[in-house]
Amino acid sequence: MNRRSFLQTSVGVATLASTSRIFARSDDATLVISTWNHGLPANIAARATLRNGGTVLDAVEHGVMIVEADPTNLSVGLGGLPDRDGIVTLDASIMTGDCRAGSVCFVQGIAHPISLARMVMERTPHVILAGLGAERFAREQGISQVPNALTLQARKAWEVWCKEKNYSPVINIENHDTIGLLAINSSGEMAGACTTSGLAFKAHGRVGDSPIIGAGLYVDNEVGAATCTGLGESVLRTLASFLAVESMRSGASPQQACETAIKRIVSKHSNYKDFQVGILAIDRQRRHGAYSIQKGFSYALNEELKTSASYIG
Ligand code: ASP
Repeated sequence: MNRRSFLQTSVGVATLASTSRIFARSDDATLVISTWNHGLPANIAARATLRNGGTVLDAVEHGVMIVEADPTNLSVGLGGLPDRDGIVTLDASIMTGDCRAGSVCFVQGIAHPISLARMVMERTPHVILAGLGAERFAREQGISQVPNALTLQARKAWEVWCKEKNYSPVINIENHDTIGLLAINSSGEMAGACTTSGLAFKAHGRVGDSPIIGAGLYVDNEVGAATCTGLGESVLRTLASFLAVESMRSGASPQQACETAIKRIVSKHSNYKDFQVGILAIDRQRRHGAYSIQKGFSYALNEELKTSASYIG
C-alpha cells in the first residue's frame, strides 16, 4: 500500500469510525420500547426515524404505523378481529412529554388511526374524537375511509366465534394485542403511541383503555412514560399508565412502577387470574421496566425481544 492509498484508507476508516461513533452515540442515547413481538419491526422503524433526524413524535407514529399496516395482525389496524357484529372498530392515542395528547376511538375504515390521533392533537383544540365525528374529521383532513371489509383471516375467526357467541378474553397468545410504543430521544424528549382494534368480538361501541390518556398511555418529560396492553377495562378502572408515571414521580424505578400498577390491578380484580395485562415504562435516565399479570408478555427493547417478569410466576 503506498502512502496515498494508506492515507485514503486511514481517512476512510477514521471517518467510518467517527460516523459509527456518532451513530452509536445517538443510538445509545435513544430508547424505544414497545409491546409484544410486533414491537420489533415498530421499534426498528421508530429508531430509523430518530436516526434520520425525525422528532420523537414522528418516531412513535412511524413505529406503530408499521403494525397498523400489517393485514395479518389480528389486533391492530384494519386487519384486526371485529366486534360481535363483524365490524372492525379502532382506538388509538398519542402523547408527547410536554403533555400534549390526541386520540380517536370507535373509528371505522381508517388505515392509520394513530395519524388521525396526531391530527386531533395538532389540528384541533380537543384531545379525543369518537366514532362518526372522528371519521368526519378524517375526511376533512383528506384521509379516505376504506369500506369495512374483514380480511379472510378475521372473517374466518369471526365466523367460528359466531357459532358459539361465547365472549371470554383469551389470556395470552403470541403476537396479539395492542401496540404501545414509548420513545426517548437523545435530547431527553419523550413520546408514546398506542393503537389497537381492541378486544376481539367486543360489544359494538365498546372503547378500551388504549385511547384514554392515563389508562393505555401516559407521558411526562419530567418523569417518564408508560403504556399498557391487555384487558382494557381493568386498566381503565385503575388508570394504570398514569399510576406508573406518578409512581416514578415519587421515586420508583420504571420496574417498580410497572409492578405497582399491576399489583393495583390485581388488588382491585378478584378475577385477575382470568385475564392478562402487561405494562411498560421508561424514565428520564433511560431505564425501563416491564411487568404483567400472567407469564408470556413479550416486548421489544430497541432491536431486542424480551419477556417480562409476571405477578403469577
Ligand atoms: N387493551 C386493549 C383493549 O382493551 C386490548 C389489548 O391490548 O389486548 O382494547
